[in-house]
Amino acid sequence: MMRIGFIGLGNMGGGMAANLAKAGHEVHAFDLSGEALARAGEAGCHPVSDAAEAIRNMEAVVTMLPAGKHVRAVYANDIVINASPGTLVLDCSTIDVDSARDVAEMAKAKNILPVDAPVSGGIAAANGGTLTFMVGGSEEAFKRAEPILSDMGKTVIHAGDNGAGQAAKICNNMLLGASMIATAETFKMAEKLGLDLQKFYDISSNASGQNWSMTSYCPIPGVGPQSPADNGYEGGFAAALMLKDLRLAMEAAQSAGAKVPMGEQAASLYAQYADEHGGMDFSGIINMLDS
Ligand code: NAD
Repeated sequence: MMRIGFIGLGNMGGGMAANLAKAGHEVHAFDLSGEALARAGEAGCHPVSDAAEAIRNMEAVVTMLPAGKHVRAVYANDIVINASPGTLVLDCSTIDVDSARDVAEMAKAKNILPVDAPVSGGIAAANGGTLTFMVGGSEEAFKRAEPILSDMGKTVIHAGDNGAGQAAKICNNMLLGASMIATAETFKMAEKLGLDLQKFYDISSNASGQNWSMTSYCPIPGVGPQSPADNGYEGGFAAALMLKDLRLAMEAAQSAGAKVPMGEQAASLYAQYADEHGGMDFSGIINMLDS
């Protein structure tokens, strides 16, 4: 049982903090939203009225915030001021690699132990404690972080040094965005060529075109396993969040000097799709390919 601070109790953080409390930890939870604080109280956390109270005297502090600027602000204004040396800090938000590395440096300068630990899995996985965590940080920090993350997820992988968790997350999601579009346009073309789509699925899923977007998340209703396509493209992973991750991937590619023409194309197509359909599942982009 540990004393854990938790900052950011939104769609994802609310369920994650609740799972830490369920696992027996003393969770001191803070959010700017009173409603989110009240929900955390009902879920077994101790709501506190400012960030400092979720940081002082804690053994570990988890942040689950919208974007890099929020994480930078909480680290600069609250964490490095209020955390004692030796405190473990885990940022589970999805943010840009440069911000992840900068906040880790800020923490290390105060002998605070940082990890970036972004997640794969949506709100249902956050509530159900089945997230996958990709972790960047030292061996020592990872060893301390692993049992805490395991109380909120089913898989915890050490990706490398600080920033490696965020790098792995956006590389994976760039591949996912591009492969979803490629799968969707291929099925649309197969249809126009007069192929039966179930037959094409049976062939391609056993041939060299096979990929996760096809065989685990097929964008065609009634083909492959149950997916958001069978639910009118509702639920699942919102196109707006895919666009956020693709934008982070484009920033990272530029800062690392990587050539990513397919990723650029995916980012531009998701920008078009999310403009009107940001709340739909990302596989709904297939509906933009109708001509
Ligand atoms: P959200 O907007 O629902 O929650 C963010 C919470 O942070 C809000 O409750 C907000 O009030 C709070 N907050 C903002 N600034 C704060 C501050 N300074 N101090 C305290 N609280 C503050 O977002 P979410 O859907 O929970 O996502 C959180 C992160 O997880 C994002 O980086 C997102 O990209 C990532 N993510 C989300 C999903 C998903 O399916 N929603 C999946 C994977 C990763």
